[in-house]
Amino acid sequence: MGKVTGFLEIERQDRGYDKPDARLKTYKEFVHPLTNAELEKQAARCMDCGIPFCHQGCPVNNLIPDWNNLVYRDQWRAASDTLHSTNNFPEFTGRICPAPCEASCTLNIQDTPVTIKTIECQIVDRAWEEGWVRPQVAAKKTGKTVAVVGSGPAGLAAAQQLARAGHSVTLFEKADRIGGLLRYGIPDFKMEKHLIDRRIRQMEAEGVAFRTGVEVGVNISMAMLLTDYDAVVLSGGAEAPRDLPVEGRNVDGIHFAMDFLTQQNKRVAGDSEDKAAPKGTITAKGKHVVVIGGGDTGSDCIGTSNRQGALSVTQLEILAKPPVKENKPLVWPDWPLKLRTSSSQEEGVARDWSVQTRRAVIENGKLAGLECVRVEWKLGDGGKMNLVEVAGSEFTLKADLVLLAMGFTGPRKQGLLEQAGVALDARGNVHADTKSYKTSAAKIFSCGDMRRGQSLVVWAIREGRQCARGVDEFLMGSSELPR
Ligand SMILES: Cc1cc2nc3c(=O)[nH]c(=O)nc-3n(C[C@H](O)[C@H](O)[C@H](O)COP(=O)(O)OP(=O)(O)OC[C@H]3O[C@@H](n4cnc5c(N)ncnc54)[C@H](O)[C@@H]3O)c2cc1C
Ligand code: SF4
Repeated sequence: MGKVTGFLEIERQDRGYDKPDARLKTYKEFVHPLTNAELEKQAARCMDCGIPFCHQGCPVNNLIPDWNNLVYRDQWRAASDTLHSTNNFPEFTGRICPAPCEASCTLNIQDTPVTIKTIECQIVDRAWEEGWVRPQVAAKKTGKTVAVVGSGPAGLAAAQQLARAGHSVTLFEKADRIGGLLRYGIPDFKMEKHLIDRRIRQMEAEGVAFRTGVEVGVNISMAMLLTDYDAVVLSGGAEAPRDLPVEGRNVDGIHFAMDFLTQQNKRVAGDSEDKAAPKGTITAKGKHVVVIGGGDTGSDCIGTSNRQGALSVTQLEILAKPPVKENKPLVWPDWPLKLRTSSSQEEGVARDWSVQTRRAVIENGKLAGLECVRVEWKLGDGGKMNLVEVAGSEFTLKADLVLLAMGFTGPRKQGLLEQAGVALDARGNVHADTKSYKTSAAKIFSCGDMRRGQSLVVWAIREGRQCARGVDEFLMGSSELPR
């Protein structure tokens, strides 16, 4: 373990941020890394618990106490190797993961978990700087071919693992750049995109062929893929957004969050912004913005709106306001429900809970506001919680731009899935188990949000890795890829 008495002697210290005023002027990341000496002290706080709950809390089962020990002992290269043994892209998770590992850390019982996410991020950032991250080219080719459809973190992880196992992998992506939601959902201020480009170069050197601007099911048929490849992995994400079926929904000024975020990410990349978006250019500049939905997507809309120069930003959530602090003995080491404030929310937003939208207020043919009502969740017959309007609680919010960030209902069915003919589960996601990742159709596998529904980057990486093992076993009879 690190320093035996480290957790008693050393205070938790985490990365700092630029002040909101400074960071609102740019789309760049705004985190200040710790010095190597500071980080080594933080790693020394790890107690190398007999049962490392952090390890269990992490969906990719990162070997957290091991790399904490290695960082403490100034063995950064070995720490990087250990980190990469369970996670293909720790520089992504080190920036944007909500860090369930830290919630599970034993030291979180007293609210001072080891700074696991920061340590992860700085190990991999240093590994790239030092040139330790190199392509891992397979020693022998198997002669088998695999098509991966969708280049989000699940497709990228699956493609990288399969190429390292010696298969010839082609990754198809309908967008003009690789990365899925890492590229077009998550803004640059949370994760700069050169980090994805660097991994693409590594994967190209490992033999992965990237084909962008190809929508399978539209530009290429599934039948063609099944003829040309020995196996097909479907990792197309959960792209169908949840809509707001209220009066006035179709007025100009109400948009899905992803239409708004994709345009800004394209602008930051210097690409032509997506005129193909259903309602043309969307901007928050000089507008009163209402974001509906309280999750990551909603936060990204707030941060982007403030950077674009919104006059005001309000965020509505239909659920009740969660407690400021969790009931630790009841929930630890599980992920707690509690009030969280993201860096984007810290930059400026009025948040409101237990609010439902009734209709869009339209004046002179233009969006002018939202009529809302307060709601309560009440226990009904049969133990089911029902949403009940609070009588007389109606109010109207001024709004020139409304962004719908209420989550995703599952994968889009048109094109790819219709042609693949795979069975869906009860929630409308592609049905496949978490061992073989096989769908109901021969030679077709599925992973990531397309299989599990909207989730997290770290889960997508886990599923991509495990799915690659399933495909490798299918092609070769056995596999040495880790699960
Ligand atoms: C705005 C936003 C912010 C988020 N922020 C975070 C965060 O901070 N932290 C976190 O952990 N998670 C976050 N998430 C969730 C996370 O991004 C997803 O869970 C993750 O990206 C899922 O990975 P995936 O590879 O399964 O799918 P995706 O990332 O959705 O990638 C799917 C890809 O498949 C492509 N595709 C689909 N159909 C086809 C086809 N027929 N042919 C070719 N290509 C196709 C799509 O264009 C897309 O590029 C966020 C999600 C959103 C929407
Ligand atoms: S739970 Fe926390 S203290 Fe224990 S091994 Fe994991 S990181 Fe270290």
